[in-house]
Amino acid sequence: MDLDRLRRDTPGCVHVLHLDSAGASLMPAPVLKAQQDHLALEARVGGYTAAAKAQSEIQKVYRSLATFLNCQAGEIAIMENATVAWNMAFLSLNLGAGDRILTAEAEYASNYLSFLKLKRDRGIEVAAVPSDASGQLDVSALKEMVDDRVKLIAMTHVPTNGGLINPAAEVGQVARDSGVPFLLDACQSVGQLDLDVEAIGCDFLSASGRKFLRGPRGSGFLYVRQSMLEHIEPPFVDLRGATWIDAETYKARTDAGCFENWEFNYAAVLGLGVAVDYALEVGMPAIEDQALTLAAQLRAMIADVPAAAVYDLGARKGAIVTFTIEGHSAESIAETLGAQDIIVSLSSPASTRLDAMKRDLPTMVRASPHYFNSEVELERFVEVLKGL
Ligand SMILES: *Cc1c(COP(=O)(O)O)cnc(C)c1O
Repeated sequence: MDLDRLRRDTPGCVHVLHLDSAGASLMPAPVLKAQQDHLALEARVGGYTAAAKAQSEIQKVYRSLATFLNCQAGEIAIMENATVAWNMAFLSLNLGAGDRILTAEAEYASNYLSFLKLKRDRGIEVAAVPSDASGQLDVSALKEMVDDRVKLIAMTHVPTNGGLINPAAEVGQVARDSGVPFLLDACQSVGQLDLDVEAIGCDFLSASGRKFLRGPRGSGFLYVRQSMLEHIEPPFVDLRGATWIDAETYKARTDAGCFENWEFNYAAVLGLGVAVDYALEVGMPAIEDQALTLAAQLRAMIADVPAAAVYDLGARKGAIVTFTIEGHSAESIAETLGAQDIIVSLSSPASTRLDAMKRDLPTMVRASPHYFNSEVELERFVEVLKGL
């Protein structure tokens, strides 16, 4: 990896020591330019004409995402964020009273809130599969919990609150063997880990653009397996997702586009496409290797800081490092770092409540390095922590 080139490509590297790719990463210059160019075109000729002129690049975004995930372009819906993508998939299953969902202990707040809402509204049931000794979802426990009532396995691949990587492909195998749909929240793994929906075996995958993928804010996408499209019903359709035939009938699209609605921020869509192309060009296996290597170094360096505690779980750990330092609140640590243009974020217990209750987690500092970070940056970061 040509780190100098990658950092030159990243305007933010001049201004900040950015360790928050789990929150919102730094966009590469081509991602920024694609958006600026399209906004300028919209200003010059109007939004509709601009979209018409950009039609072939817009179509190419679907093909890039399909290459990226190893699927077909018709299995991709572009969304404004991952939460909408996830809920579109979740609600399309039309779960009802007595239907059971299996999830993991590190499930993301917004997903679990949707479980609780359907529990209240429709009487569905939710159970979290216990974790194994390493902290990842226990696949053999999952196998024992799958029965006729289970209508969905919904798991966060990489949680928002730490280095855990859940065993997605093993879970996918259980889902396939039992014929239960599998919805994977890949918000934190997309752009961090080399993902392949065939190898994982998920039926749905939701993700945001702005995190490790380094795309624009307000961008996301949903993958829906073609064979699943025949068994679901979008929670709502508009005139993009469906065609109005007559006073009694409409016809929904038969591809993943049935989940989309008409209006788009096309600058963000084009920026998302360029972010995907950029990741493909750098190479996802190399990105994964570098991000995880840097995170492992950082984790070891933080563990050496006096009074520091690191909280990351998992047999194999990813690029999110969460920690506290005794005698300093997480907020005050983030503030001290921020005053020196070092960007991290906080991880609150409410973002992953089941895990937080189980481990009695405090609010933690979350540092998430990515492949464009340097070892020199990690050293500077840890020096600041030591000086607290
Ligand atoms: C950030 C995040 C989400 C939500 O993504 P948005 O694009 O903000 O809607 C969902 N799940 C996980 C695990 C996340 O980290």
